[in-house]
Amino acid sequence: MTTTQGGPVSWQELPVRDDLRTLAPYGAPQLDVPVLLNTNENPYPPPPELIADLRDAVAAAAATLNRYPDRDAVELRKDLAQYLGHDLTGRQLWAANGSNEVIQQILQCFGGSGRSALGFEPSYTMHRLIALATGTRWIAEPREPDFTLDPAKAVAATERHRPDVVFLTSPNNPTGTAAPMDLVEAVVDAAPGVVVIDEAYAEFFRPGTASALTLLPGRPRLIVTRTMSKAFAMAGARVGYLAADPAVIDALLLVRLPYHLSALTQAAARTALAHVDALLGTVNAVKAQRDRIVDELTALGLPVVPSDANFVAFGVSADGTGDAKAVWQALLDRGVLVRDVGLPGMLRVTAGTPEETGAFLDALKEVV
Ligand code: PMP
Repeated sequence: MTTTQGGPVSWQELPVRDDLRTLAPYGAPQLDVPVLLNTNENPYPPPPELIADLRDAVAAAAATLNRYPDRDAVELRKDLAQYLGHDLTGRQLWAANGSNEVIQQILQCFGGSGRSALGFEPSYTMHRLIALATGTRWIAEPREPDFTLDPAKAVAATERHRPDVVFLTSPNNPTGTAAPMDLVEAVVDAAPGVVVIDEAYAEFFRPGTASALTLLPGRPRLIVTRTMSKAFAMAGARVGYLAADPAVIDALLLVRLPYHLSALTQAAARTALAHVDALLGTVNAVKAQRDRIVDELTALGLPVVPSDANFVAFGVSADGTGDAKAVWQALLDRGVLVRDVGLPGMLRVTAGTPEETGAFLDALKEVV
């Protein structure tokens, strides 16, 4: 950017809102390396039959691009309801450009100026950043040392702070820890406002781990968010969604931008949902690599957090005091990009293909 005098300016010199000045933009490094295991994507690209159908669906949508898209994405929401099951209908579903936008709409509607949101950290940092960007005060309470949540403490924190929005991430990013249903129920009962269960990684649950979708009946302040970015291998398409009481969706209509979800996006999402079996066929392969990482790192004597997601948080030394930044760099030097999530002595790795996971494990064995 240039001034009228032609000199460069930085954003700090612009009249940006005071409460944004201390923030830093979200951003995992996007580096060009052979093994990308840092942003919890599905390592398998969409299968050829889906790509062919996407081509047709996008071409059909392209022929209508002179018109605005379906503002309420009615057909997509029906398809999403059918995918989720639990007797949900399209009226209980809402979709946007990634679950980040869904979360932003929730905070615009239920948070905002003079309101607060509570999260249990470490967790997904965008909950905090979107809260702050929407003018919502952020309240952080700590998880237990093993990253689980103590139901009594979570309820006590909810009663103490009386937040307008509570975030529970299950499985939690960056730790992979799932939230038990009795905890979710207790927090919903205690919360004066809405409770958002961010289930971005729910398709990777281990057997026996439950989804908060089971709790929706009779709980109009419970919101479950999901995404097509992970299990569905559609991170590039930007489709996230939520399930909740129809009243929640009526409320969100107040803040959503008109025609927020493009006709191309809606067509791509519906086409992907028609290939659900092929897409979710990759989930078991990814879960097997997740379990392999847990087993092999445990055998190496490293501390490993049990994971219900497609990633694993681990300590870089047996005593937990290792230099995570140095290990992150040494892995990168060997062509493997993982995530430094800012937890002392720990890194997070996404489960990849067997080859990518093998490359990570080989590199790590050289490094630690
Ligand atoms: N929630 C969690 C817990 C996540 O980890 C992510 C992505 N990293 C998201 C939401 C947002 O995903 P998207 O906007 O791609 O749906």
